Amino acid sequence: MVEPIQTMPDPSTKKVPASGPSTLSVHAGEARVKPGFSITDPIFASSTYTFPDTQAIVDFLEQGQSREEYGRYGNPGERVVEDKLAALDAGEASVLFSSGMAAFVGLLMAHVDAGDDIVFFDECYHRSREFCRRHLTRFGVGFREVRTCDYDAMEAAITPRTKFLISESPTNPQLSVVDIERFAEIGRRNGVLTLIDATLSTPYNVKPLEAGVDFVLHSATKYLGGHNDLLAGAVTGSAELLEPVRNLRGIMGGVNAPHNAYLLERGLKTLALRMERHNANGQAVAEFLAGHPRVQRVLYPGLPDHPFHAIAKQTMRGYGGLVTFFLRDADWRQTAAVIDAVKIPRIGPSLGGVESLIEQPMVMSYWNYSPEERAGFRIPDNMVRMACGIEDAEDLIADLAAALDVAE
Ligand SMILES: *Cc1c(COP(=O)(O)O)cnc(C)c1O
Repeated sequence: MVEPIQTMPDPSTKKVPASGPSTLSVHAGEARVKPGFSITDPIFASSTYTFPDTQAIVDFLEQGQSREEYGRYGNPGERVVEDKLAALDAGEASVLFSSGMAAFVGLLMAHVDAGDDIVFFDECYHRSREFCRRHLTRFGVGFREVRTCDYDAMEAAITPRTKFLISESPTNPQLSVVDIERFAEIGRRNGVLTLIDATLSTPYNVKPLEAGVDFVLHSATKYLGGHNDLLAGAVTGSAELLEPVRNLRGIMGGVNAPHNAYLLERGLKTLALRMERHNANGQAVAEFLAGHPRVQRVLYPGLPDHPFHAIAKQTMRGYGGLVTFFLRDADWRQTAAVIDAVKIPRIGPSLGGVESLIEQPMVMSYWNYSPEERAGFRIPDNMVRMACGIEDAEDLIADLAAALDVAE
């Protein structure tokens, strides 16, 4: 007789007896024995989940059983990814969303009330700040920004109304690195929740929860998925603080379809391997650019002259694949000419995938702002942002060298 297919993994088999980033990437969150004895998690292409009889529904509701009910509240593949991410982030729990922004909006909507206010470091992702400035303010939630890594200014901005301190680390595209322990300590001392958007660092390079923050957020669209083929987001933290976030997600509906969750789980398997290469490529490309006569300046936390190199070295395993540089004596068109001359990186927004991407932030993200506003955002016309993929560093460097020559 054929064994019946198990409908749910047995949670008791999920604990992985190791904590290395690669072992966790491959195994954490997964049941050891899976439906059909498959080594990979199946994709349950299902919008609803059935009960054998009415008593089973009553038992489910009364005993808080761990099983699925309806697709808007999650699906089995999504739970596996959540458990894997919680293990990678060294957090109790993780809630997955359909995009990084859905995770950000879901987290804040679950935790802020009218009359609260939020303090940001000013280099945070512009859509995150826009959500607070343009939308949360409509519900009576205040919004302030202080200069990134100015901890005294952040502390001074805290009032009895302040509910959240928010930063990214590293920031994008300036690549400022936050002293996360110090940031978390300011929050704790003032009774304010802290959130680090760690999209650019990933749990491979940094573990903000271990440094004491309350929440860590990821756009899983970037390094976690890693293949430029999906959108997803996640927030990790304590089970208690995430309970209202999960509840609100079930109401707002920003879940991942089962196929998307599978792609993310598959991408996560190689997170540690890919990050090693992204880190190595970022460092090699940054060092090459720093020595090039047409490059005025390079921002990369792994370079000794980076303003936050010391804290980065102390707190990060590696510095990621994003490299920001400025062309010497170049206006926006001369800068664009270099971008148009590269042959390996593709031109476009985003980062964190196996394919390298290159862009000019002034054009890609800030075209509709005035020169004064761009100066305020610290986005000059000659700034280039390269998101190194996992290609061979020598090829990326040769390609950049040729582009810097051709476009001269
Ligand atoms: C891309 C990004 C986001 C938004 O994530 P989506 O998945 O695109 O919604 C948030 N924060 C950072 C740092 C990002 O790079």
